[in-house]
Amino acid sequence: MKKVVKFGGSSLASPKQFKKAGEIIRSDKTRRYVVPSAPGKRNDKDEKVTDMLYACYDAASSGTAYKKLLNRIKERYVEIIDGLDLNLNLDFEFDRIEENFLKGAGRDYAASRGEYLNGILMAHYLGYEFIDAAEVIFFDDQGNFEAEATNRELSERLEHVERAVIPGFYGAKHDGTIKTFSRGGSDVTGSIVAKAIHADLYENWTDVSGFLVADPRIVDKPEVIETITYKELRELAYMGASVLHEDAIFPVRKEGIPINIRNTNKPADKGTLIVESTLRKPKYTITGIAGKKGFCAINIEKAMMNTEVGFGRKVLGVFEKFGISFEHMPSGIDTMTIMVHQDEFEEYEQSVIAGIHRAVEPDSVDLESDLALIAVVGRGMKATRGTAGRIFSALAHARINVKMIDQGSSELNIIIGVKNVDFEGAIKAIYDIFVTAELEN
Ligand code: ASP
Repeated sequence: MKKVVKFGGSSLASPKQFKKAGEIIRSDKTRRYVVPSAPGKRNDKDEKVTDMLYACYDAASSGTAYKKLLNRIKERYVEIIDGLDLNLNLDFEFDRIEENFLKGAGRDYAASRGEYLNGILMAHYLGYEFIDAAEVIFFDDQGNFEAEATNRELSERLEHVERAVIPGFYGAKHDGTIKTFSRGGSDVTGSIVAKAIHADLYENWTDVSGFLVADPRIVDKPEVIETITYKELRELAYMGASVLHEDAIFPVRKEGIPINIRNTNKPADKGTLIVESTLRKPKYTITGIAGKKGFCAINIEKAMMNTEVGFGRKVLGVFEKFGISFEHMPSGIDTMTIMVHQDEFEEYEQSVIAGIHRAVEPDSVDLESDLALIAVVGRGMKATRGTAGRIFSALAHARINVKMIDQGSSELNIIIGVKNVDFEGAIKAIYDIFVTAELEN
């Protein structure tokens, strides 16, 4: 049994947090490969080391004062080293970083040092081997991640290493230039390492006890999702639910390796298990609810639209021309509605309307603004009768008007369009009918 464990920034922000991570790792011998983030915030007002590094580099490379900030970054590591009683001195590393900053080594290089230094520290603390991600994670000259070359190198390298720390978030191009993933990218590194060693499990340790059924800013103390499939997660993540970097799914998904989201501050909590597929019944009919505000609808009407071959293609071609991607396209016999992000559309509003007139000569085009989309997602909905009925009666009871309905053919999700002002109320009503009510039964 082999596990990869990734710890997020808040899990490694202070000596106290580092100790918690250390205990977690030591309590299970199969936790053999560790991927740390850079130290995050110790409290709400604190700064992330990654943000400090960006700011410090910007100052140093533009010839403004940077030394104080560099010292503050160093203090963050010294605090951890002292708090853990480690016999480790990072002076040499900091001298080199300063030199490279002044030489203009790049913002990616700068940001990556947060993870690099934390990796050295973690390896020292655990007595594990340190492997610099720049030696095993590759990007091409354009900065695209090279999955195959990385997998080859990393699996070869780790084959004979019993225990190692590989810092998250970065790798290198072939000329040695450091390149990072997008923000939050240590999640991706963890997934890449898990794939390379054929891990049995990828544990992602963070500061929440897993994915929640709904956004806690809308629903009071929502339940944690125990098991979720990659497909369900993708639906929810697309609609705004976030805990894990989206790109972290792909490397492990193909290999059938589950991800377990865990809470460093509550290690006894089971967290959320993300799997390819499962026989485990979801606790409730629905797995999760997520949504986004800020959409608008373009309603197109034309008598006998249904007989016109190519109507939809021509309409969508107009949106394509302006680089606007559409979210949903509910249609009637003589009507068709395109839902798009309002901020993407506003700039081209009149040109799109004119374009539609030219392309399909409709009877009318009208617009409706300030709409929200809510996705109700769950593998349990597939075989269950009445799910849609329950959603709509809950919304009717809450006096919320449904503007649009779209059920994917997978029966994995039902998307509902409501007015922005009804967004929170709708999510609460749906949560209550499925989760609160099912809990009570
Ligand atoms: N430290 C990086 C960030 O703040 C990457 C990560 O934590 O995953 O985005």
